Amino acid sequence: MSICLFCKSETNSFLSVEHIFPESLGSKEKILPKGVVCDECNNGILSVLDSELVNFDVILFLRTFYGIETKKGSVPRASFSTVSLENPSKKHINLVLKRNNKNDFIKTHEGFNLKFTGRKKMSNKNMKLLARALYKIGLELLCLDHGIDFCLSSRFDEVRKIILGKRDFHGYICIGSNKTIDKVGVTYRFFKTGDGGKELALFEFNYMFLKIVFDMEQRECRLENGAKILGLDVLRF
Ligand SMILES: [Zn+2]
Repeated sequence: MSICLFCKSETNSFLSVEHIFPESLGSKEKILPKGVVCDECNNGILSVLDSELVNFDVILFLRTFYGIETKKGSVPRASFSTVSLENPSKKHINLVLKRNNKNDFIKTHEGFNLKFTGRKKMSNKNMKLLARALYKIGLELLCLDHGIDFCLSSRFDEVRKIILGKRDFHGYICIGSNKTIDKVGVTYRFFKTGDGGKELALFEFNYMFLKIVFDMEQRECRLENGAKILGLDVLRF
C-alpha cells in the first residue's frame, strides 16, 4: 500500500515516478519511484512549484546562458525588461539590450558585466513560492536517502502543509553566488540545535553560479554570521 509523501493519501493513484529536480534544470538522475508521490500532488501543486523554480529569474537566465534543454528538448528564451537572451544552437548567445543604458553592458578585460532587472519582484509571495519549491526538493531528497517511513513521521507534517499551500508560514532563504559551476545539486547536513538538541537539516541548493541555503523546519534564521562569511544575503519572508 502506498501513502503519499505530501498529502498522505492512501487512496489516490500512484502511476508516475517523481523527479526530485525539475527536469528542465538539466538533472534527471534523482527520481522517487512510483508509489511515493500521488498523481494528484505530482501533476498539481508540485508541478506548479517546479515551474516557479525553473522560471525564477536567475535560474532562467542560467538555463539560457548554459543552453540547458527543457523537458521538450529546446533551450528556453530568457526575456527580462532590460535584456533578452537566446541560445538556440547552444554555441552562441544572442543578447539584446532593450534600452540604451551604458551601465547595462560593460566590457571588462575578463569578459563583460551584464546588469539586468528581473521580471518578478522578490515579494513575500514570490519568495514563499520559491521556498516551497526548495522545500519540496528537500523533503524528497530526505525520502530518497532515508526512506519513506522517516519522512512520513509527524516531524515533517508542518512542512508538508507548507509545501501543499495549506498553511501560511514565514521563513528565510540565504542567497548568493557560487565560485565554481555546480550543475545542479542539493547537499544537506543534519545538525543539533544548542537548546533542546533538536535535529535539523540545513540544505544547500547549487545551480551553476547560484547558491541558496535553506532550512525547511526552522522559521527563524540563526545563520546571520555564517551567511555573512559565505557571502550570502539573508532574505526573510
Ligand atoms: Zn499526494
